[in-house]
Amino acid sequence: MARINRELNPTRMTPEVRAKLRQSHLGKGKGISYEKTHGRHTHRIVMEQKLGRPLREEEIVHHIDGDHRNNDPDNLMVLTRSEHVNLHRAQGDLRRKSG
Ligand SMILES: [Zn+2]
Repeated sequence: MARINRELNPTRMTPEVRAKLRQSHLGKGKGISYEKTHGRHTHRIVMEQKLGRPLREEEIVHHIDGDHRNNDPDNLMVLTRSEHVNLHRAQGDLRRKSG
């Protein structure tokens, strides 16, 4: 069936499109979307991989562009808690949960 659909509809439902749809519907997919991987914050895991070492308790991973879903290594930076608070204050962002 899949093969026939692909031939009839070559542009609409490519495997790529299907994968995207599946991800957006499930949301809980293993490490693909959303914030957590194996119960840990994905951005912390990404940063640990970038640093090549585990993060310390007091280290905060900040999302540079403010988009918590953007876990691109280039969008993440490590700060201490106080640095992090100061940064958000400087940005006029007092929301505690902001990343
Ligand atoms: Zn932040």
